[in-house]
Amino acid sequence: MRILVTGGAGFIGSALVRHLIEQTDHEVLNFDKLTYAGTLSAVAPVAGSDRYRFVQGDICDAGAVRAALADFRPQVVTHLAAESHVDRSIDGPGAFVQTNVVGTFVMLSEVRGYWQGLADDAKAAFRFHHISTDEVYGSLGDTGLFTEDTPYDPRSPYSASKAGSDHLVSAWGHTYGLPVLITNCSNNYGPYHFPEKLIPLMIVKALAGEPLPVYGAGDQVRDWLFVEDHVRALQAVFERGAVGRTYNVGGHNEKRNIEVVRTVCAILDRLRPRADGQPYAEQITSVADRPGHDKRYAIDATRIGDELGWTPAETFETGMEKTVRWYLDNEAWWRPLVAAKAAERRGIA
Ligand code: NAD
Repeated sequence: MRILVTGGAGFIGSALVRHLIEQTDHEVLNFDKLTYAGTLSAVAPVAGSDRYRFVQGDICDAGAVRAALADFRPQVVTHLAAESHVDRSIDGPGAFVQTNVVGTFVMLSEVRGYWQGLADDAKAAFRFHHISTDEVYGSLGDTGLFTEDTPYDPRSPYSASKAGSDHLVSAWGHTYGLPVLITNCSNNYGPYHFPEKLIPLMIVKALAGEPLPVYGAGDQVRDWLFVEDHVRALQAVFERGAVGRTYNVGGHNEKRNIEVVRTVCAILDRLRPRADGQPYAEQITSVADRPGHDKRYAIDATRIGDELGWTPAETFETGMEKTVRWYLDNEAWWRPLVAAKAAERRGIA
């Protein structure tokens, strides 16, 4: 199939592009604006394939989206382009509304126009797949899981903008009959994760001998999923998912933030011991909590398991080992991003 991936130079989008080129016969058009979060080096391993193309474009630019659709003639659009960092959404929510809400509206409008012009069989086979987050469901107490029927209750400008975009996608399915799919996934981690997010931030700060800033007591709980498991879930959904359906994707790996940071430290102690022989965990420092910080997210991924046969291949332990090794082996990718001050504290409100 011909698959148009928006945001294919980002963390998850690039993992999807690499997976589709390396593990399938699909053709890929990567449509990405290359914001601060987009790096073409993340797709360099597959950029030479004759099944891969790249267009630099903005999802808010209707003409650019229309031209890409007309030229590439996709059978599937997987929409990942977004502003994705909660802390940045606290400092500057406008960009999140623009890209995540208005940009998704532009994508839906242009995709609908393109889709209406397809022959009947191509129209029936077409899919618009929106990649979203479990953060739209709000925050859990000590027990319970998010299911696909959990009411939306977003708390941050980021999650509110993703909730808004989910609702638009759903409306285009109900109102115009566009064949849409939505996935809501838990926190991802893995290679090419921008070093402003928790796990890569801790790795690069640990190696630099800097304090490891943990919000408050570090007792917020997230459900961690290795990014390559996520992209296999995405493939299962756009190839075999039921039109109009939402699928939650999660790793069955609930961890407190402090446990995640201690895991990073313990792996580094083994793979790259500090010169003074002291444990990296002694660099852990508590900082003022993020405003409105959600306490706990946890996903019930029963539906995607039962209906599409997807389960994660990595445990938290194996995925974290792979991730820390990747950052140790790929300093050339993240050093320039850190030098550009990606690792500064944001989201203080
Ligand atoms: P990312 O920030 O790493 O990448 C986003 C990509 O989108 C970048 O390449 C950027 O250049 C591109 N982009 C941004 N604005 C654009 C625009 N206006 N036009 C075109 N391209 C634009 O994000 P990510 O972590 O890879 O997340 C991808 C998607 O998955 C997002 O929609 C996010 O909400 C969702 N998601 C992320 C996670 C996670 O843990 N990272 C979990 C669940 C869902």
